[in-house]
Amino acid sequence: MKGLRITMRGVVVQWTPRPLPTDAPDHGGIAFVDRDGVLNVGSPNYINAPNELVLLPGVASSIGSLRRAGYKICIVTNQSPIMRGLWDVERIHQIHDAMRDMLLDVDADAHFDAVLVCPHRHRDRCQCRKPMPGMIRLGEQMFRHTPPEEGRSIIEIDAGQKVHWWDEKIQPSHELDAMIGDRNSDMGAGWAQGLRCFKVNWNLGITSVVDRVLDQKDRGDPFDPMR
Ligand SMILES: [Mg+2]
Ligand SMILES: [Zn+2]
Repeated sequence: MKGLRITMRGVVVQWTPRPLPTDAPDHGGIAFVDRDGVLNVGSPNYINAPNELVLLPGVASSIGSLRRAGYKICIVTNQSPIMRGLWDVERIHQIHDAMRDMLLDVDADAHFDAVLVCPHRHRDRCQCRKPMPGMIRLGEQMFRHTPPEEGRSIIEIDAGQKVHWWDEKIQPSHELDAMIGDRNSDMGAGWAQGLRCFKVNWNLGITSVVDRVLDQKDRGDPFDPMR
């Protein structure tokens, strides 16, 4: 007989959109940003509580600069401790509430509009765990077509179109959309949606690429998902 299983098929969402700063251009681009190793110092044992959050240098002003340049900010993060049963969904929201305050304390424009969390493990074979692009697809949908209820929710995503990893990179739904991450799984998810992909070193984080993301002619780092 099987034991009890935690089942959660959906993406854990915080939807907290805010108008862009005054004078920001209205081009509609979205910056999809990985969390650990990009915004905060990562840990092999996960970030398990708000007091374990340590921002990387310059992160708040980088997020602020992106919003001042017209980008909406959508954090996309794999957090398997949830399906591993280490802690619950409430905890991830507490961590992100703390992170929001930490960023805004330093730069009043450093607001993130959404956080999307894949709570699954590899073996759950979901569509959201990066390098699958499910969270990016959901983010595009939320920002451009069907905004969810404000605040917290769990949104199930359907299998959608397959990713053809062996084909050419597809056209993005918006030229300026970008994926910023420290791992190949981040690059893979961005590649699968045709985004400009920027890889950062985990100990430098987003600050090291923000000028490139702001350069609309920079098409991002080359990435081959089959290598
Ligand atoms: Mg990371
Ligand atoms: Zn998932």
